[in-house]
Amino acid sequence: MNDLLTDADLCVKCGLCLPYCPTYTHTQNENESPRGRIALIQGWAGQKLAGSEALFGHIDNCLLCRSCERVCPAVVPYGRLIDNFRSQSRPEHHSSVRVSLIKKVAHDQKARRWAQQGLRLYQSSHLQQTARLLKLPQLLRFQALERLLPAHSQPSPAIKSHYLATTPQQGTVGLFVGCMGEWLDQETVQAAVTVLTCLGFAVHIPTRQACCGALALHDGDQATAQQLADTNISAFGELDLDAIVSIASGCGSQLREYTHLGFAHKVIDISQFLSQVGDRLTTRLKPLSKTVCIHTPCSLKNVLRTEQSIFKLLQHIPELNVIPLPDTVQCCGSAGSYMLDHPNMARILLNAVLDRALQQQPDTLVSSNIGCALHIKAGLRERGVRLEVVHPVVLLARQL
Ligand code: SF4
Ligand code: SF4
Repeated sequence: MNDLLTDADLCVKCGLCLPYCPTYTHTQNENESPRGRIALIQGWAGQKLAGSEALFGHIDNCLLCRSCERVCPAVVPYGRLIDNFRSQSRPEHHSSVRVSLIKKVAHDQKARRWAQQGLRLYQSSHLQQTARLLKLPQLLRFQALERLLPAHSQPSPAIKSHYLATTPQQGTVGLFVGCMGEWLDQETVQAAVTVLTCLGFAVHIPTRQACCGALALHDGDQATAQQLADTNISAFGELDLDAIVSIASGCGSQLREYTHLGFAHKVIDISQFLSQVGDRLTTRLKPLSKTVCIHTPCSLKNVLRTEQSIFKLLQHIPELNVIPLPDTVQCCGSAGSYMLDHPNMARILLNAVLDRALQQQPDTLVSSNIGCALHIKAGLRERGVRLEVVHPVVLLARQL
């Protein structure tokens, strides 16, 4: 409890964070604000408040977007506080079936292969269409998960564990593709390899790499998160790397917080990495006369704090009109597994993001986090809007 109180007592209750908090903005309820949640944790850790369902509910409703942490003058480590509270307050806590399922697939390679094959069958045999017509996802209460499934596509070529630089070698990097990248976002993985090797980097993709651990940690399971961290540290640690490049900003922010500093200090988001070395791209990129709107994930903005990197990077593409969403746009509501257990708030937040994005009338929307991209794609499908959503590195690779 002492660590909880030490972190929570840093809060001076100034309330500067409140306007930045999505759940407070939409409820105007102090218990749904960062300051309110910190006060609830202080009450519980100081044994003045019982651990009621209402109290746990207010903490569970937090998206862990960490907008509050970014603006806090007292530097309250809000993310750590919530993770520690979730782990200490309910050691026996059981996740919902949806979250358990997604964790199983994320953490276990065998389960992931089974899920991959099952999904292919579900989508290619018209089972998905029939299930949707019969409203089975709603009846069986897995609609929040089913809506995220990407459209059926042919499997891409298998991802190799090592790629040579295709121009004079500048360095060697490890690519962190995460638990979902290889399965649900092969286009981004292939694009990252194309751009990195073209810039002179040899790329290692260790087959032993595991989920970054964010799903487990934010669900209160610190032991599993640590096991996954140890696996990644060992998988990348046996290679001589200049950097560990992450393609999903949500995973990158988790990797950056590993306590193994030799690992954490090497982690860099791919947009930031490429924006630092991207001058070499300028002469190689073909023009693209289109408008692209940038969605900036909370993990890139509030944890990695490199929100300018995508804008800088895409400006290397001649003739491209690049429009970032205004800073006032809040979390899209995806937030790891949040959208599965809090579909109503997730939808309210998503609608606000989609409204602002569509006002820009873009040809393409880019997002650097796979969870956000899947949530946004689902929202667009539900609105009947045809708009491509891709990782920024995919746009770059197409213009090479
Ligand atoms: S800004 Fe920081 S110190 Fe102020 S209320 Fe929010 S968490 Fe507390
Ligand atoms: S992490 Fe996000 S949702 Fe949670 S209290 Fe802070 S601003 Fe609000």
